[in-house]
Amino acid sequence: MDNKYIDNMLSEMDKDLSKSGLSRRDAMKLAGISSATFLMGGATSAQAETEAVKSSKAKGKIVIVGGGLAGISTAARLTLNMTDPDITIIEPEALSASYQPGQTLVGAGIWDESEIAYKRDDFIPDGVKVIEDKAIDFDPNNNKLTTAKGQVISYDYLIVATGLQLDFESIKGLEEAGRVYSSGDNSKLLKVLGDDGLCSIYTGQGATQTWEQMQKYIAQAKSGKKTRFLFTHPSTPIKCGGAPKKIMYLTNSRLKEAGARENAELIFYPNGGAMFGVPEYHDAILEQFKREGFEWHYRHNLIEVDAKNKIAVFDSKWQEKGPWDPIMKDFEVIPKHEKIRVPYDFLHISPPQIAPREIRESDLGSAAGWVPVNKETLQHIKYKNIFAIGDIAQVPMGKTGGSVRKQYKVLVDNLIAQMEGKKLTSKYDGYTVCPLITSIGTVMLAEFDWSVSPKPSFPLDPLVERWVFWLMKVYALKPMTMYGMLSGKA
Ligand SMILES: Cc1cc2nc3c(=O)[nH]c(=O)nc-3n(C[C@H](O)[C@H](O)[C@H](O)COP(=O)(O)OP(=O)(O)OC[C@H]3O[C@@H](n4cnc5c(N)ncnc54)[C@H](O)[C@@H]3O)c2cc1C
Repeated sequence: MDNKYIDNMLSEMDKDLSKSGLSRRDAMKLAGISSATFLMGGATSAQAETEAVKSSKAKGKIVIVGGGLAGISTAARLTLNMTDPDITIIEPEALSASYQPGQTLVGAGIWDESEIAYKRDDFIPDGVKVIEDKAIDFDPNNNKLTTAKGQVISYDYLIVATGLQLDFESIKGLEEAGRVYSSGDNSKLLKVLGDDGLCSIYTGQGATQTWEQMQKYIAQAKSGKKTRFLFTHPSTPIKCGGAPKKIMYLTNSRLKEAGARENAELIFYPNGGAMFGVPEYHDAILEQFKREGFEWHYRHNLIEVDAKNKIAVFDSKWQEKGPWDPIMKDFEVIPKHEKIRVPYDFLHISPPQIAPREIRESDLGSAAGWVPVNKETLQHIKYKNIFAIGDIAQVPMGKTGGSVRKQYKVLVDNLIAQMEGKKLTSKYDGYTVCPLITSIGTVMLAEFDWSVSPKPSFPLDPLVERWVFWLMKVYALKPMTMYGMLSGKA
């Protein structure tokens, strides 16, 4: 990290905080982190705390399915908290430790893909075994699973951390892309998206392709041709609910920077009827959209892409007033929908996101596919020796790295309690965070929990877009994740 940026960041932070009559030290205390942790992900007080508690002598074979952010962080913290852990991670992807939140920055040419690609094996804690394979069949009644290569693996305790799948194949016209993961080789998807304005930051390689396409259509707008940029948000739960808008804001910044904004239309098509689930953030985003001259159309779900003719097809939904219902003493509401065809030059797709097939088709998954857990303890609702964490866990609003950062500590406490035959007392409170990039240089730090209201860690107005949070997003969160969380300490 460049010293100049650290100095600027700290001085901006001090300016912001002094308006609230606080010193940086007090603010950090309130936020529950130290300045060093904030900037570097350094394991300061957290390290002291975790190393001091390496005390559990609990016994049992722990298998973790999925070695991404949640799986590796959990393994690392278990290793810190147990004297003689027996942990195996099953993970097929060599680059599973890659930093997905950085894909948004890669998509706008701020970072390069190489700056977010990390090898799984560089982050596996000492003593933890890795099986480079995929779990494809689960038998939770007999505590075993089978891998794609045919290995049968038994366990005493199972942690499901498979993340989710990006369901491009459910969009008509993109069937050939199949279902993919954010990390690893996505060449099939890239081929289907092609070189004519279609893109998605939801995979690492796709983020690079997004930047290539963005530059091409910014150049078109700069040449004087009216250019239409569309951005979608699907009908399923998604990881990082802010990402579909972040890439729109960054495209806007790049267009302005190129002097091409006046020739560009930026249009957002979300499936839902609001900009954000928390009313305060919804209102703030709406004002930002108006200020920036964006267009938006609620309740539009992308169902088809006609790449040859450059048309996006949406299922557009609305409601109409029906006849009077004498029993309910109200008018009936009639849901309506129709297909809308919208021509585009540049189309950024946030794909539908679903639980991996092997989970949804097993006894582990719920009808919706996600792993049903007690939302506070993260223990499976049926199998007491199974826990789930991260994007695959069926908890409300929890599909971010920020949620994982709270969840993995709870899971480790509760798994150890379960192994020791004690009561599960650690609770996840639903905290999640979305650093909503609103331009190159500003971020609105949207923090919230199940109360669906802002839960700021800093004593600053959470609805204000700040440079200091941009610096945090670009310079502090990656080291905090890669060297703090993945070592079980942050
Ligand atoms: C574009 C984008 C922007 C984001 N921005 C932010 C942000 O700003 N802030 C934030 O907090 N979060 C952000 N996130 C979300 C964050 O990255 C995820 O929530 C987080 O990575 C979830 O961790 P996970 O371990 O559950 O899943 P992952 O990190 O995806 O890991 C899951 C792993 O499981 C493996 N796996 C899957 N199936 C199997 C199987 N059957 N057997 C074995 N292994 C399997 C996969 O190969 C994968 O490596 C963003 C994500 C994206 C894509």
